[in-house]
Amino acid sequence: MLEPEASLGVLPDSILCVIIADLQNKMLLLVRASNGEIITTTPITEDLRKWLSVDPLVDNYPDISPYAYCAWNPLRFVDPDGKDIYTINEETGTIEQVRTEGNMHSYYLTNGTNTSFVGSFQQNENGLIPLSGNVAFNNMSGEACGFSVKEGNESRSYISPNALASLIGAVGSLGYTDVTVIGFSLSDGSSPSPSKSHKNGNVGDLRYLRTDGVSAPTLVNGKNFDVRRNEAMTAALFKFGWKDMISERVDGYLLPYTSAASERHISSDHSNHLHIQRYNPNILETYMGINFTDIMVYGKR
Ligand SMILES: [Zn+2]
Repeated sequence: MLEPEASLGVLPDSILCVIIADLQNKMLLLVRASNGEIITTTPITEDLRKWLSVDPLVDNYPDISPYAYCAWNPLRFVDPDGKDIYTINEETGTIEQVRTEGNMHSYYLTNGTNTSFVGSFQQNENGLIPLSGNVAFNNMSGEACGFSVKEGNESRSYISPNALASLIGAVGSLGYTDVTVIGFSLSDGSSPSPSKSHKNGNVGDLRYLRTDGVSAPTLVNGKNFDVRRNEAMTAALFKFGWKDMISERVDGYLLPYTSAASERHISSDHSNHLHIQRYNPNILETYMGINFTDIMVYGKR
């Protein structure tokens, strides 16, 4: 068996487990950092090898360096304190996800150089995150931004972890504080009546933005409808994954990236809300890279 690297002896307390490659026996070992106990092993196969690559995220987590934080999805190791880590690029719309098996999700914004923590959210038994109140954070320009949930609609505002990353990315890229979620899905991922399409926490309704910056209702033909900011919002939502949006046309004008409900033979009037659907984000699941001689950190408290 391969001797653990010397650095194993100085692992910080925060580290839960490490993965060690045993090259002689072509095995990977998951070892508890505190006492060296071998939790499980798996053979190194060609199939496994192809999952391994250099970790592009490690520089973003200086507190973890020089050990890479691991999301060893193909191995399905259980990390009781697991947190999926989403790193959302404000500029490109790309989201990098480091997967674990836990039910917490931590969100970071990045501009490609620096990274800033947004927040951590716990999913329910159906893998959805309940939204409520106001989610406030700073974007990479240091601007305060955030979104809120329409009061009374909390029970219909369950969002998927991925869609939450996209919403954070869109709002962060805009630097707005007045985006209002009207709803996504029910806690089990079904669509709240009367809509049928709000499934799996990926399809939702938002309020249009107002010129006065207040999180309150407005209509596409209302005099406080903020054309410039609503155009920026649909562009940002498109960039972060919602490839189809429904609004209404007013005097020939239609928001970019949307089509009019009335022209799609959709019976419900979308004058007072923007419907966002066909969620297809650019999410890259990342896996920890090793050279089979490295030590990888599996989990972190
Ligand atoms: Zn809708």
